[in-house]
Amino acid sequence: MSTVEHQPTEQAQNGAGGDGRIAVENPATGETIGHVPDMDSAQVSELVARARAAQPAWDTLGFEGRARVMYEMRKWMVDNRERIARTVMEETGKTREDAQLADVFTVADALGFWAKKGPKYLADERVRSHSPFVIGRKLVIRYRPLGVVGVIGPWNYPIANCFGDAIPALVAGDTVVLKPSEVTPLSSVLMEEGMLASGMPADVMLVATGRGATGAALVDAADMIMFTGSTGTGKKIMAQAAETLTPVSLELGGKDPMVVLRDADLERAANTAVHWGMSNGGQICQAVERVYVEEPVYDEFVQKVVDKTKTLRQGKPEGPGSVDVGAVTFAPQLELIERHIRDAVDKGAEVLVGGKQGDGPGRFFQPTVLRNVDHTMQIMTEETFGPTLPIMKVRDADEAVTLANDSRYGLNSSVFTRDTAKGEELARRLTAGNACVNDCVINYAATELPFGGTGESGLGVRHGPQGIRKYCGVQSLLVTRFGPKREAYMLPYKGSTSRLLDRVSALMYGRVPRRFRRSS
Ligand code: NDP
Repeated sequence: MSTVEHQPTEQAQNGAGGDGRIAVENPATGETIGHVPDMDSAQVSELVARARAAQPAWDTLGFEGRARVMYEMRKWMVDNRERIARTVMEETGKTREDAQLADVFTVADALGFWAKKGPKYLADERVRSHSPFVIGRKLVIRYRPLGVVGVIGPWNYPIANCFGDAIPALVAGDTVVLKPSEVTPLSSVLMEEGMLASGMPADVMLVATGRGATGAALVDAADMIMFTGSTGTGKKIMAQAAETLTPVSLELGGKDPMVVLRDADLERAANTAVHWGMSNGGQICQAVERVYVEEPVYDEFVQKVVDKTKTLRQGKPEGPGSVDVGAVTFAPQLELIERHIRDAVDKGAEVLVGGKQGDGPGRFFQPTVLRNVDHTMQIMTEETFGPTLPIMKVRDADEAVTLANDSRYGLNSSVFTRDTAKGEELARRLTAGNACVNDCVINYAATELPFGGTGESGLGVRHGPQGIRKYCGVQSLLVTRFGPKREAYMLPYKGSTSRLLDRVSALMYGRVPRRFRRSS
């Protein structure tokens, strides 16, 4: 496999003043494929200062001008899709299809989505008030950019979970400093190149390559932080941001449950479990990480999942369709996946397929299916982030819901049944930010739907109106065109006015509406 030609843009080079460099590795081969600067806090502050200076003009450009850049970038991504997919594949070790679907297609789609929807979601809202004090006034809710947004991203989807979050911020009129994972920085550098080639003015989006300390420096300097990654780091970022009251949006880990009822289309459920448990090597925050199956169909479902998993091909990703499951991107994950499986087996679980590291020279873990699992095992309670599917037998739907909700996480979730009304009723009982019936993960493609977690899966959402409004401050406007010289409530106070107000409040608030009255 060829190595990535990493040519930092002029902006990235200008940002690289320190001696430290970070080597980027291809996890599927172990080869070093490039280097990026390890920026210190002074360099991050300089990037943020440049982004802050560029922000007013970017805002003034308006939605039309910014949309032009987004559509040009969409075309650039399509024209350069081979190069983008190769860069993503080489620094993550993922398959071509995983790179193509999430990091190329989804992001290209998002460029058009936000360019089109941004102006609608951020349009001024006229409101009417119920208050007698503001009768006749013009009342407006207005959204305006916060300034410089710091986007800190992980290594599992180096474009979707990094540049992808910059898109709505940029459409809103913010400028952005991206801090990609030290493991996968080349994709973000490539996105910066693409944005400049697409007509983005200088300094509107900059990339701060580096490690955790670089991210921490960005938290101090930026006006808002959009973070995707581990729950532990998310908590650190929130605590640090509290010092400056910097708003944060956190998209963290998950331990997403799938519930399979006795009347489910088992073939569809098994295909979905295998796909969303194993694709991208299971390194998806909303991967299917645990499955609960009703007793009467448990054995049949497990057998289907085992048979399908056995057919999966793993290895160094090459061209289209070459392998199904790629490498483990981040080295410490190998040990974590092994630890979860060891813990489960020690407590009585049975490994039906896989269970071991795959053949090198790269870093691989075999797609793995387990049964006889329960909630004393880490594999059922902690995020594994690997190609593992533990499947637990349950008595009935109620027990499945109880177990699904027995988690500190709450990102995505799913229920499989032919009775969609029952499925929806169960989905509404799941304490997860997102729930699907007879589907998994694909709800993420409906960019109109807010996507976010509850509990330790995060705060705030991507997508939907809230997914762009979070990058804005709200300004409420009240405009009085016609008003008396002196309002009745103004100083000096008069007894007659106070008595009138007393009578008015008794009239307005002094009784309970009939349908809310307590029956005596
Ligand atoms: P982290 O949360 O450690 O890292 C995510 C990003 O935050 C990286 O860019 C990282 O930089 C940066 N960072 C690290 N420390 C700080 C800090 N104190 N302040 C600001 N930024 C910081 O995730 P990992 O990459 O280590 O992945 C570990 C775990 O996270 C996985 O096992 C998985 O459970 C979870 N994860 C969840 C993802 C999701 O989509 N929800 C995606 C990826 C991982 P750097 O990488 O350079 O250290």
